[in-house]
Amino acid sequence: MTTEHLAADDDRPTAGFATRAIHAGQDPDPSTGAVVPPIYQVSTYKQDGVGGLRGGYEYSRSANPTRTALEAALADVELGAAGFAFASGLAAEDTLLRAALRPGDHVVVPDDAYGGTYRLFARVFGPWGIEHTPVDLTDPSAVEAAIQPGRTKLVWVETPTNPLLNVADIGVISALARGVGALLAVDNTFATPYLQQPLALGADVVVHSTTKYVGGHSDVVGGALVVADGAQLPVGLEGPTGTTHLADALRFHQNASGAVAGPFDAWLTLRGLRTLAVRMDRHVANAQRVAEFLDAHDAVTSVIYPGLPSHPGHELAARQMRGFGGMVSFRTGSEASALAVCAATHVFTLAESLGGVESLIEHPGRMTHGSVAGTALEVPDDLVRLSVGIEDVDDLLVDLDRALAAGRGA
Ligand SMILES: *Cc1c(COP(=O)(O)O)cnc(C)c1O
Repeated sequence: MTTEHLAADDDRPTAGFATRAIHAGQDPDPSTGAVVPPIYQVSTYKQDGVGGLRGGYEYSRSANPTRTALEAALADVELGAAGFAFASGLAAEDTLLRAALRPGDHVVVPDDAYGGTYRLFARVFGPWGIEHTPVDLTDPSAVEAAIQPGRTKLVWVETPTNPLLNVADIGVISALARGVGALLAVDNTFATPYLQQPLALGADVVVHSTTKYVGGHSDVVGGALVVADGAQLPVGLEGPTGTTHLADALRFHQNASGAVAGPFDAWLTLRGLRTLAVRMDRHVANAQRVAEFLDAHDAVTSVIYPGLPSHPGHELAARQMRGFGGMVSFRTGSEASALAVCAATHVFTLAESLGGVESLIEHPGRMTHGSVAGTALEVPDDLVRLSVGIEDVDDLLVDLDRALAAGRGA
């Protein structure tokens, strides 16, 4: 199968998600037949006469064949027109914000955004003249009220959010953003392109920390942007190459600022992407079992998982997502007991990050979300977050049961 067979003439993919994740952008190497794209660990390329570039390759900040393969695959699985791979999720975000915003602009951000995203808006772009308003995205009327027509140039959506797993309606919020000529960016890190397709729901650009589920093995840091077909810069803005296409501006900024993914990182990320579908099926099944187990446990005061009917976003998530994801958060009633549970697991590893094959446990208040203490994004101090891995689920349940018993004495 070649990549061209994956899309019909009207540009809608005809192959299923898992097929495209394995084949899109990944035709066997034309010169050797290598079945997977090789690691082009190279900085520069021989020119056939001045300006005679082979395949457009000139210098690896501008383009590198391993990165090209990853970018094409990511664009395909997100149903986008162009993909861009970066050294980290935050590097991807930084490039998007530089390309789309100018001093004096205003952005709407989730009031429980990923801590690093919030820090980027508040402490990097704030001093450069970008004002932000944190909003509860589960309430579209609050989003509407926060939008300042003429000034708001970007609405940032994360769904489900980290670590409170709130679910936002991408279609409804995209209509609000479109109404004022603002961009809608969706951080799809938690859901992954397998479980949720924001561009099909009206988003202009999808953001990923590929460090998480896309990479999937806790062995590489990376980020990506995927742009919807025809996506434009915010109304009134012309990009550095003289067009209003968001993809043109991102291509310019990716090269001009240069926070690109290196060849080996791109190769590892692409290796992860090929198994995303099967991994996510198992993450989702295990997370559902873990959530139901915790829900019935008397050392747990509440469980937050979109797959539980008690979750306020359950019905919306069922409509908007193919499955409810691999992240589960729960509360234990006190900070001391939450810390004790985090210290007592054996199969769940105490660590930040998420989305790898191995299960992780963490205390957001003291770990991932320490940087937002005292802001609108502060999280409850008895909250525990799980990244449920793809181990045998019974081993996970036994481990949590033992840790909860240890936490009870704290
Ligand atoms: C980790 C993460 C990021 C940042 O990505 P890095 O690869 O760590 O720079 C952004 N958004 C979400 C939801 C994340 O989990």
